[in-house]
Amino acid sequence: MEFMHYFKSRKGEMLNLLKEVVHLESPSLDKKAVDRCSHFIIKEFRNIGTKIIRYPQKDIGDLYTVQYPALKSKLKKGSILVLTHIDTVWPVGRIQNMPFYLSGQDIFGPGVLDMKAGLVMALYALKTLRELNIEPRKNIIIFINSAEEIGNEAAYEVIQKLARKSEYVLCLEPSLPGGRLKTQRKGRLVIRLDVTGKAAHAGSPEKGINAIEELMDQLRSLKKLGRTKGTTLSTGLISGGEKANIVAEKSSATMDTRFWTNMHKQKILNALRQLKPVRPGAKIRYTIESSTPPMEKTEASMKLLSLIREIAGASFKMSLEEGKTGGGSDASIASSLGIATIDGLGPDGEGIHAENEHLVLPSLIQRTALLTELLRQL
Ligand SMILES: [Zn+2]
Repeated sequence: MEFMHYFKSRKGEMLNLLKEVVHLESPSLDKKAVDRCSHFIIKEFRNIGTKIIRYPQKDIGDLYTVQYPALKSKLKKGSILVLTHIDTVWPVGRIQNMPFYLSGQDIFGPGVLDMKAGLVMALYALKTLRELNIEPRKNIIIFINSAEEIGNEAAYEVIQKLARKSEYVLCLEPSLPGGRLKTQRKGRLVIRLDVTGKAAHAGSPEKGINAIEELMDQLRSLKKLGRTKGTTLSTGLISGGEKANIVAEKSSATMDTRFWTNMHKQKILNALRQLKPVRPGAKIRYTIESSTPPMEKTEASMKLLSLIREIAGASFKMSLEEGKTGGGSDASIASSLGIATIDGLGPDGEGIHAENEHLVLPSLIQRTALLTELLRQL
């Protein structure tokens, strides 16, 4: 079956569906809005005979999995997990200033690329397998995250559970420019440092322990970790002290650190464990406020990459490049469990989290064709 022609002929209906999904705005923190958008897309998935499981949530939109074929029995090992998310970074109403529209080959709109197009791709891939009576070699599970942009513990747990049952994980985040797949993502630690010193009159500072000065020395020494290639540390928040004429008793800073490998993460954690006050009597405490693993180039992922390349080459004469990116995604969670994971299988475009967010229409067709072929052959 030549899926490329097939999806070209369905371009119009795919665009209409994408438009409807984009119009149902769904910011991560607005449960009602996210649920409304999920109901719409889930109804579409239900219409094509898939098995839907809902994971009700209190604070975020409900999470869903879509299984194809719709098995009655429990899921067996060795499935293909497809990661998507329905939430966007845009508030409800943004569509007024950022309307959905087509200009030449570019489709604009809030969340159109990140990643409502991914949902349309997943739906059309399954729809096509079903309509053409094509039996995939493995069970397929689509996971629809409702709070990917803000991160959520419940979603992490479901992804980990599903990933452990999967042989391959495909993530439909947008590609890198030119359609390159994503094989590496940076991990992230948000670290808070709290320093306690001793207050004293600023006229005789030697009687106190200045927590702000201590904090500055600690930040300067931690900054050396940035000498490791690709590791970055950025202090984004800082506070401390009470008045100019009092030696500061307390201070704190929050840092965002990013790194390519788990080894680099360990380096950062070791440095934190070894923090020692420069000023006798000062106390330093660190807290990890959030942690995202890096997506590394594992042997399993590289094998999956060559399989994908083979299929893309044989079916579409498509050659696929790979690359890395600084931001995290759900692919990092699956990949950190050692499961073969490839990201960036979504369409090409530009401007995620920016006003000019858009995708390139021909790449939506190509990527949907590729996804369908992967689900059939992998
Ligand atoms: Zn995304």
